[in-house]
Amino acid sequence: MSEQQSPEYAKISNATAISLGLMQGRMYREAVNRCVNLLVHYPEGCSANCAYCGLAKNRPGSYREKSFIHVAWPVFPMDEIIGAINQAPSYVKRACISMITNGKCNRHTIDMSTRLNHETALPVSVLINPTIVENADLMAMKEGGVDKIGVAIDLATQELFEKYRGKGVSGPHRWERYWEVLNKGLKVFGKGNVGVHLMVGMGETEKQMVSLVDRLWGMGIVNHLFSFLAENASRLTDRPQPPWSTYLRVQLARYLIENKLSKSQDMAFDTEGRITEFGLTRDRLQEVIDWGSAFTTSGCLGSDGRVACNRPFGNCLPDVKQWNYPYPPNLEEIGLIRQNIFRIEEK
Ligand code: SF4
Repeated sequence: MSEQQSPEYAKISNATAISLGLMQGRMYREAVNRCVNLLVHYPEGCSANCAYCGLAKNRPGSYREKSFIHVAWPVFPMDEIIGAINQAPSYVKRACISMITNGKCNRHTIDMSTRLNHETALPVSVLINPTIVENADLMAMKEGGVDKIGVAIDLATQELFEKYRGKGVSGPHRWERYWEVLNKGLKVFGKGNVGVHLMVGMGETEKQMVSLVDRLWGMGIVNHLFSFLAENASRLTDRPQPPWSTYLRVQLARYLIENKLSKSQDMAFDTEGRITEFGLTRDRLQEVIDWGSAFTTSGCLGSDGRVACNRPFGNCLPDVKQWNYPYPPNLEEIGLIRQNIFRIEEK
């Protein structure tokens, strides 16, 4: 088993394996995964220790079995993955490689992303790891055909970052380093081609998250929202998911900001930092809510200009209530969103 590792092999998400026909399965509401989500794989795993991550070094269990974003990620040969991509349904619009903290990962990510670019027709993203990535690696990824990168800052403040990814967990990641590489990434890939992953529900206020979304958007960076959802046997197993209403409000704020319908300075917040006003009239706001698109997953776009990285059920179980809808919400779901978005729920 030990030789099954990158760059010849990769881990792929369950939803990706189903979309590529490498695994049997159907998803709730006929959801489809429009992105080929891959993860670099080594038997020794990731040397980092992020408190909420399924791959964390100190999380019990062998790396091969560790779940990531709450699902199993089976290992497949890259040859088989590339073959399946070239037979994939037309709704598959992008491929993405997520890096881990491992000394071999830079070189292999460049090799794997270059293969995907040369041997398939899909645009390729890389979720980079700023702790190990150098400027030369970013250049090599770009030359290899990568058109977009993601940076998982995840936490809305430096304090929370250090607490859950840095010194607080004896982890290698540093807030300054992440911003330094983020700026280098902007220079190499350009505005609109750099995305930041942000996770709601880690102790930040809605105000802190919205002001970070606004700041990043102002730099030319797109915001990809995720909800905290505990991984079993991880440091944060007992931590609850953020209230649905909180997540809906932050999603709406991101949508209004990135569609130039409002700004964080036009929004109002209560003493707990919860959004109470979005800077639009109530009628206009209800109209935008009824479009439903504000509550769908935010991720890298495909060649059709729509979100490709829709991550079906990556943040919650299949149900009418979704923390990121992987498809446009239907009338029943929009009705539920209307009823809940202004609900004040204790954390
Ligand atoms: S949003 Fe982009 S960088 Fe992030 S996982 Fe999806 S495709 Fe990769």
